[in-house]
Amino acid sequence: MIQIAYKREKCIGCNYCIELAPDRWRMNKKDGRSVLLGSRNKKGFYTVEVNDVEYEANKISAQVCPMKIIRINRLNK
Ligand code: SF4
Repeated sequence: MIQIAYKREKCIGCNYCIELAPDRWRMNKKDGRSVLLGSRNKKGFYTVEVNDVEYEANKISAQVCPMKIIRINRLNK
C-alpha cells in the first residue's frame, strides 16, 4: 500500500496530476483545485491509502506538481 497526501489549499489548478493519474485526481470546476479521489480531509490535509499499482503515476504527479503539495509514502502493509 501507499499513502497519497495532499495540501489542497495551495493547488493552482494546473491539471498535471489529473493528466498523469486520472484515476485518482479530478478537477473541481467550482474552485479550480484538484480533488484527491477517495481521500479524507483533516484540517486541509487530504490523505488516501491506495494499492501499489498507483505508485508510479502518482509519484510522477508529485514530482511535476509546481506547488510541491503532493507526497507519496510507502506503507508497510
Ligand atoms: S499538479 Fe499540483 S498544483 Fe497542479 S493541479 Fe495537481 S495538485 Fe494542483
